[in-house]
Amino acid sequence: MKATAQTRDAQSKRSSYEELVKRQSKILAPSFAQDWPALPVVRAEGIYLYGLDGREYMDFMSGFGVVNLGHNHPRVLAAAREQMEKQVHGAVGVTLHESVLRLAEMLPEILPRRLDMFFFGNSGSEAVEGSIKLARNVTKRPGIIAFLGGFHGRTYGAATLTASKAIYRTGLDPFLPGVYHVPYADVYHSTHPDDPTKCVDESLKALETVLDRLISPSQVAAIIVEPIQGEGGFIVPPREFLVRLRELCDRHQILLIFDEVQTGFGRTGEWFAAQAFDVEPDVLAIAKGIANGFPLGAICARAELMSQWDSTVHGTTFGGSPISCAAAIATIETIRDEELLEKAKRSGEYLLSRLKELKRKHHQVIGDARGIGLMTAIEFIMPGSDREPNGPAAKKVLNEALSRGLLLYPCGLRSHAIRLAPPLNVTREQINRAMEILEQSLQTIAQ
Ligand code: PMP
Repeated sequence: MKATAQTRDAQSKRSSYEELVKRQSKILAPSFAQDWPALPVVRAEGIYLYGLDGREYMDFMSGFGVVNLGHNHPRVLAAAREQMEKQVHGAVGVTLHESVLRLAEMLPEILPRRLDMFFFGNSGSEAVEGSIKLARNVTKRPGIIAFLGGFHGRTYGAATLTASKAIYRTGLDPFLPGVYHVPYADVYHSTHPDDPTKCVDESLKALETVLDRLISPSQVAAIIVEPIQGEGGFIVPPREFLVRLRELCDRHQILLIFDEVQTGFGRTGEWFAAQAFDVEPDVLAIAKGIANGFPLGAICARAELMSQWDSTVHGTTFGGSPISCAAAIATIETIRDEELLEKAKRSGEYLLSRLKELKRKHHQVIGDARGIGLMTAIEFIMPGSDREPNGPAAKKVLNEALSRGLLLYPCGLRSHAIRLAPPLNVTREQINRAMEILEQSLQTIAQ
């Protein structure tokens, strides 16, 4: 009797699950990437997502690098709930609320040095968009330089800067004028995979060629760079690359903007990648992990720079929402109190060592295992090839892992790398369980 009831229950969960997936395709825009079996989720807690199919899934992508404390962290929820009872919406600039000011006073304690003035928006794209508006408005220069492989968001300015996959730009021309792309210091994919310095030299040489032949440095407002490329493949450049960009910017009074939307808030084992590399940007765009799931983004700059921004030229309706700011304060306090930077560093080292083991064992298909902190990835290659991307293998492993209860997500040009970016408080047992699933999933491509 009991077994029959359970079977019936499982069947009805399965049919409502399938129905939800079907409903989605009729009413949600198809513009999202269509390479993923959208997973219907009814509840989320910590590293776990609870599917409508009655199963639990380990979220090793932290909701796209957002829930660095895990889903529904009680301390963040409590802060948001308390704020919600007091005030849900506050139109910054017309009215003022305490939580946005407290957050702005708190951020300089964790940000790269000297960044002490802020504009709060709702998302990463907005933070990027506002950063380039700030740069053009203050410098009175038109040019912006960005990097091939970079991802900066979906609004027009941010999409103009984005050059990680042509599909993100297809059918959208014309883009913002005055934007130039140059190669990133992507050592593994370069012609000198064993010589980081040569790779950095080549990237900087290409940049200097653009400055010599296309736009003179005096016309460039900013260089925008992800200190570690995220969507582009979790590419960690040599430190020297960022140091030399800093020097070049100083030489020509060009603003250096770091897009740390994905690398921020502990992902690298430091608060920001700028600190992991010890290179200071002039402007920092942040979002995702800032409020552990509540929508918030910010442009951060030195007061002496940001205070030159013309009045009225940029604004927002929802940006700096009281609830999101309260959640952000609780997120920062939790990272601090639970010593999550240290934990992320230790867990990241362990995770990367396990991924390197996997690479050794499956060297025919895994070409690279890389990362910093809890921002790690493995890259799939065609067996016997010289680093030729193997998107189908990555996809097979992703689907196999999902069917075994592990949610991962691809990155890289051909979606041929798999990122592993669990919450900062991931446990050793959870990493071991994920590795076990990954290993089983890898067996299926060996067959
Ligand atoms: N910059 C980077 C580096 C990102 O990874 C993303 C999102 N993946 C964005 C900007 C855009 O952020 P959002 O989706 O919040 O607009």
